[in-house]
Amino acid sequence: MRPGKYPTNNQALALRIGRIEITLISDGLIWLDGGGTFGLVPRARWEKIMPPDESNRVPLSLNCLLIQCQGKTILVDTGLGNHLTDRQRQDFGLDRDRGGLTQALARVGVVPEEVDIVINTHLHADHCGGNTTFRDGSEELAPTFSNAEYWIQRLEWADATFPNERTRAAYLTQNFLPLEKTGRIRLLNGDTRVSGEVRTVITRGHTRAHQSVVIESEGETMLYTGDLATLAIHFERLAWVTAYDVEPLETIETKRRWQNWVLERDALVIFPHDTRTPVAHLRKDDEGSMQIEPITPVPTEQ
Ligand SMILES: [Zn+2]
Repeated sequence: MRPGKYPTNNQALALRIGRIEITLISDGLIWLDGGGTFGLVPRARWEKIMPPDESNRVPLSLNCLLIQCQGKTILVDTGLGNHLTDRQRQDFGLDRDRGGLTQALARVGVVPEEVDIVINTHLHADHCGGNTTFRDGSEELAPTFSNAEYWIQRLEWADATFPNERTRAAYLTQNFLPLEKTGRIRLLNGDTRVSGEVRTVITRGHTRAHQSVVIESEGETMLYTGDLATLAIHFERLAWVTAYDVEPLETIETKRRWQNWVLERDALVIFPHDTRTPVAHLRKDDEGSMQIEPITPVPTEQ
């Protein structure tokens, strides 16, 4: 039996950063081995925070971020998608009680054709699976967001298309290779400005060219961590790093820098997989230890 206290699927949550409207939407929930999510942290410590099910699995939501600014619709990450085999769905423990990303977008009034830019934080299957889809009964995968340009770091593309024995399982080529022949990929070379108020930043560690997304508008700021911090607790505690990170020591140093950046600006931080604390502030107490302070945005849909 699964522990009963996890929300099975998130409602869309709307937030405003200065004059930018953002909506956190979900492609569903997956259940993965707790050892993957918590790496070297002993189970005795993490199970108090996130009780696993009887198969030692913990729930991870597949959050994606919709950004609407200056007439542009930007989508950050695309979840697991809808073209997995039954076996893959089972391996991920995919749980969608309200449909996937496309349905979640529809509930906030966005159709796939409206999306102008898709940003993949990295190309692991749970962040770019919704990039491609089988359209109109075709047996060939096509871009789900047919009018969008897909923004992917050049080095991440290289690592995903030429994986090694350690990295191969996380990259499913059907999520990104079909985009190549459409000419709709923009390969990025490091930190990149998306608009006057939105930019991507390299946050190395989970992968070599992992990127996060920053919004700075009218004195307010937000960091969408991607898997720099899979859960809020990973951002609070520097040593808590997932087993999937290819450069765990880099992750720690990158988190240290971004913790300071967030504190200096009192930025809002959004996490890709946290079912209970997807949005938070970070606080530093008198002894200098970091504390996540969850915030509860207002659900936008019925
Ligand atoms: Zn992930």
